[in-house]
Parts: sequence; C-alpha cells; structure tokens
Amino acid sequence: MPIITGQTQLLGVIGDPIHHSLSPVMHNAALAAMGLDYVYVPFHVKPEHLSEALTGFAAIAMQGFNITIPHKQAIMPLLAGITPLAASVGAVNTVWRDNQGQWQGTNTDVEGFVAPLLKFERDWATQKILILGMGGAARAVVAGCAQLGIQSICVVGRDPEKLRLFQQSWLHSPLPVSLDVAQWTHLTEQIATADLVVNTTPLGMYPQCDSSPLSEIEVARIQPTAIAYDLIYTPRPTRFLQQAQTQGAATLDGLEMLLYQGAAALQQWVGQPVPLDKMRQALTDHLAQNR
Ligand code: NAP
Repeated sequence: MPIITGQTQLLGVIGDPIHHSLSPVMHNAALAAMGLDYVYVPFHVKPEHLSEALTGFAAIAMQGFNITIPHKQAIMPLLAGITPLAASVGAVNTVWRDNQGQWQGTNTDVEGFVAPLLKFERDWATQKILILGMGGAARAVVAGCAQLGIQSICVVGRDPEKLRLFQQSWLHSPLPVSLDVAQWTHLTEQIATADLVVNTTPLGMYPQCDSSPLSEIEVARIQPTAIAYDLIYTPRPTRFLQQAQTQGAATLDGLEMLLYQGAAALQQWVGQPVPLDKMRQALTDHLAQNR
C-alpha cells in the first residue's frame, strides 16, 4: 500500500460502472515502481454528475484522470481544449491540467491500439484492414490505421444507417482516412483479403466466452499471413483469437492496448518514461488471481 500524506498527488479514472476497471492496478504499480508520491483512484461518476465531478476535481487539485464508458464523448465540451487527434476520434480518454490549471484532453486509445502492432514488420501502406464493429473503440482503431498509413480500411457492421453515418463522420477528418463500409452479410468476401482483422465488438467478452464475431465459414477464410487483433482482454485468448490461431494467423489481444493507452496517459501526467514491464506484470498477475 502506498503511504498517503498531505503531499500525495491525486490521479484517477471516472466511469459508470467503474468497479471492473483495471487501470488502478497498472497505474498504482507503475507509480510505486517510479517512487512517485501519487495515488490513482477509481471514481464512480454517473452521467448526470459529470460536470459537478469536474468542478470538484478542480477544487481538490486533481492532477489528471482517465475517462471510460459512458463519458468519453460527453466530457469533450466540458474541457478547455482537446487535441486534434481526440477531435478526430470524437472521444477523450485522458485529461490533464495545463499551466493555467485548465483541463485539456486527448485520446491515448489510438496509441494503445497502434503500439502492439509495431512489433510486426509490415509495409502498412499496402495492408488491408477489416474492422468488425463501429462503436467508440472502432473510431480509435480507424485513427490508428491512419497513423500507420494504412490505405485500405473496411468497417463491417450490422446496421446500414449506422454504417453510413460512421463513414460520413470521417469525410472532413484532418487524418488521412479513406474507408469502405460493408454489412455483416459481406464478411466472408471481405475476410479473405484482409491482412489485419480487428474485433471491436464485445462478442466473446467474459462471461460470453463461447461467442465469436466470426462463423466457422468466415474463420476458414482468414489468411494464414493475417494478424487477428481482439480488443477484448478477458478471457485470454478469446474464441475469435483461438479460431484465428487454427488458421495459422498471428494474434494480439486487448491487454497490450490497455497497457499502452495507460502508459501514454501516465507519461502525460508525470512527464517521464513509465515502467511498461511493471504495468504489464501487475495486469497479468491481477487477471490470473481473479480468473
Ligand atoms: P461500443 O461503442 O458499444 O461499440 C460496440 C460495437 O460492436 C458497435 O458497433 C455494435 O454494433 C457492435 N456489436 C455489438 N454486439 C454485436 C453483435 N452481436 N453483432 C455485431 N456487432 C455487434 O463499445 P466500444 O467502446 O467500442 O468497445 C468495444 C469493445 O472493445 C469492448 O469489448 C471493449 O471492452 C473493448 N475495448 C478495449 C480497449 C482496450 O484497451 N483493450 C479499449 C476500448 C474498448 P451496434 O452499433 O449495431 O450495436
């Protein structure tokens, strides 16, 4: 347990619900390893109390905080500024105080998504990515693909109107995004040519561990050279990743994304490199103990 004194600085995460958050586990492990006098606390904030929570955080000189569901969009108009990246994604997951004490926000989910992919030596400009689902996380994935220079992006969803709106929302983005959309019924054709398949739906997440976004027919079309990336981190591996492995594909789960988005946020707050290994270890230990 950290020793909390009158000097201890406060960081945290807000969400509704918040009890499931793994962020305190990795951040407090990192802060202890760095010997910094900070503590990171989860706060259950309901949507109707978001504005009051921000005022309260300013009053108690909180240094910064993460934002999770359902506040990632709603917080944006309450901040003094947001980065162009967060504006493109349309969501903020990290807030800090600037020199004037004003709240600034950014989106580190994009870096979290991209960082684990960098270990693969690929010519990203020539790769085709297939994104399953089009919610908040899919927006960070699209922005990450643009950062990687991926030029062929296809987003698959089940609601044609939502697909149309999703595609339209990127038309005036400052990011170089060009994307196609397709309905779920066209997944079989799309998957056969994909170099990277990303599951951004909750299908397969604990406790629905037997679910997968892909049918057996679709699985059989995954290329053995493809990378299958699931943003879910419980269970490890998900059914989708097990299926992809049987096709010979490389796999990545969501724990590394969680880790890297957290590391980018912590670096923003404390202004120094953070111990990734300690954070990863804290997460894997916690998941092993709470299986
Ligand atoms: P979200 O905004 O609710 O979006 C979920 C998307 O999945 C929507 O497009 C939804 O489609 C689609 N979907 C849900 N059930 C489906 C089904 N049965 N068939 C087809 N599509 C379905 O959620 P999110 O914030 O993007 O999060 C998505 C997942 O990513 C969650 O599992 C979350 O835990 C994970 N995530 C992980 C990280 C990380 O750091 N590893 C970060 C963020 C999110 P409709 O719009 O048609 O309902």
